[in-house]
Amino acid sequence: MTSHFEAPLLIDSHAHLDSPRYINDREAMLARAWQAGVGAVLSIGIGEGPAEMHQARDLCREFNGQPESGTALPRLYASAGIYPHNTHEIDATVLAKLDGLLAEPEVIACGEIGLDYYHEGAPHAVQREGLIRQLEIAAARKRPILIHCRDKSDGAGGAWNDLFLILEEHWRGTGLGGIMHCFGAGWDEARRSLDLGFLVSFAGNLTYPKAKALRDVAARMPLEGVLVETDAPWLAPAPKRGKRNEPAFVAQTARTLAGLLNVSEDEIASATTKNFFRLFHLAADVGN
Ligand SMILES: [Zn+2]
Repeated sequence: MTSHFEAPLLIDSHAHLDSPRYINDREAMLARAWQAGVGAVLSIGIGEGPAEMHQARDLCREFNGQPESGTALPRLYASAGIYPHNTHEIDATVLAKLDGLLAEPEVIACGEIGLDYYHEGAPHAVQREGLIRQLEIAAARKRPILIHCRDKSDGAGGAWNDLFLILEEHWRGTGLGGIMHCFGAGWDEARRSLDLGFLVSFAGNLTYPKAKALRDVAARMPLEGVLVETDAPWLAPAPKRGKRNEPAFVAQTARTLAGLLNVSEDEIASATTKNFFRLFHLAADVGN
């Protein structure tokens, strides 16, 4: 569908649309995203655990190509994966469910998966094993991955080092690439991510007053290596900080990133949208 917008459309590359926080206004929330110039949203399929991994796929089926309401909505894509702190729930049944979901056309990515050493939860060795099992399945299904990586403290540390070791051994050779979601590390991690064929996705925290170090990293990024996301319902950008986040607000993060990279808002929208479609080998197709 062609849009009524003159400006290029944005893509929210990471939103938890299946969150119970949208239970009362999900369609209206998606309509607001379209009105704000968001042409597509990647809906993250981790749920509250593997039992809910299919929920993002279900939302694609519910909202894509629905003529009934007549409301213009962004096109939805889905992922499926087991979040680092749910990796202790992995067994043969869970892996079979993931494999089945990744075979479906709407489910274009495996994630968010990775390593989280910041919060207490699944032991680090369990997280690493769970990540590797999922990389094997994603590779067989030829799906790029969405990485969540968080160290215990700011700066260089264990999680990123472990992540890069695993990706070098188990992922680089696939050539499938992926997305470093809600990027919050330093230039070295950003550079290594680009070298691995990953896109680096910036979220609302880019707009926070204290995030100068992250803005300095963003300012050094090549235009063909960046994406924007909300991570909704969390992490609302600066003017809405603390409120429930939603895909419409990705426009604020895009504006901040455009300023840092010295390009217009139209240029950041068209670059990030092009990057997204290139990674997933999708025809440029937005809206419903
Ligand atoms: Zn997320």
